[in-house]
Amino acid sequence: MKVILVRPRGFCAGVVRAIDIVDIALQKFPHPIYVRKEIVHNRAVVENFKRQGVIFIDNLQEAPEGSLVIFSAHGVSPAVRQEAKERNVHVIDATCPLVTKVHLEVHKYVRDGYSIILIGHREHDEVEGTTGEAPDKIQVVGSVEEVVNLEVPDPKKVVCLTQTTLSVDETRDIAQAIKKRFPDLVSPTKDDICYATQNRQDAVKEMIKAGIDLLLVVGSRNSSNSIRLCEVARAQGVASHLIDNASEIQPQWLENVDKVGLTAGASAPDYLVEEVVRYLQNRGATMEELEVIKEDVSFALPRELLAVTSPV
Ligand code: SF4
Repeated sequence: MKVILVRPRGFCAGVVRAIDIVDIALQKFPHPIYVRKEIVHNRAVVENFKRQGVIFIDNLQEAPEGSLVIFSAHGVSPAVRQEAKERNVHVIDATCPLVTKVHLEVHKYVRDGYSIILIGHREHDEVEGTTGEAPDKIQVVGSVEEVVNLEVPDPKKVVCLTQTTLSVDETRDIAQAIKKRFPDLVSPTKDDICYATQNRQDAVKEMIKAGIDLLLVVGSRNSSNSIRLCEVARAQGVASHLIDNASEIQPQWLENVDKVGLTAGASAPDYLVEEVVRYLQNRGATMEELEVIKEDVSFALPRELLAVTSPV
């Protein structure tokens, strides 16, 4: 059995930044540190921070007045920011700059009088934050079938934005259906799916071209971009499994498999991929590396981290 270990895989610039923010806060500020929602959607990352004393909360009311709260990489709505002010908690914002970019697009198009159609998954933290920017101007669609239900006050003033971590192919199909419904649609969709999501999906497609008959994706069940990697493989007839770590591999998956593709979602730490590599090597697999795209993206730390010197 041969294993193709692809690059890029794993951590993106937004996740590196979010994890750095929590690490620095743990070193620099009095404990406990609160994080609203999972800092990134990965079980191992969250558990590791919990062991260091970080308290993850769903609701700002769980953080005492005056405490330090970090907002997750997925972004928050203005209502959450307002609540933080009213509760007098100190905030460090770990929202990925590429999510913030979509929030700013919402501001711009609302200002210009547009109705916004957001392609995405309603239950995802990012979509909750983005729709919160203009709840009465944004409609969320998650499939081509849902497009028929869209109603807007002025069909000539409609714009389509997207969640950052969607399937590139599926999003294109939904965007085309929206365009058919509203021919004057303004559509900067390509730019909203982030570079990391796009690159990891392109890398999976290259592994499929290289003849893999199974794809293993290291990532958590609630990681949108990780789920999409499995979907890309399945859409092309290649079996795929999403695993948090090597212990979740079922030996029967590997029966009669010659070539395994191995990748990781944007929030999965590389040590978990290395564990999977060791698991497969112990079963006689040989490794081959495939670099599809070089990534050289990094984001600066937020101003809040420098400004907050005495959070309690
Ligand atoms: Fe930012 Fe994309 Fe990473 Fe999400 S997956 S944190 S949008 S770079």
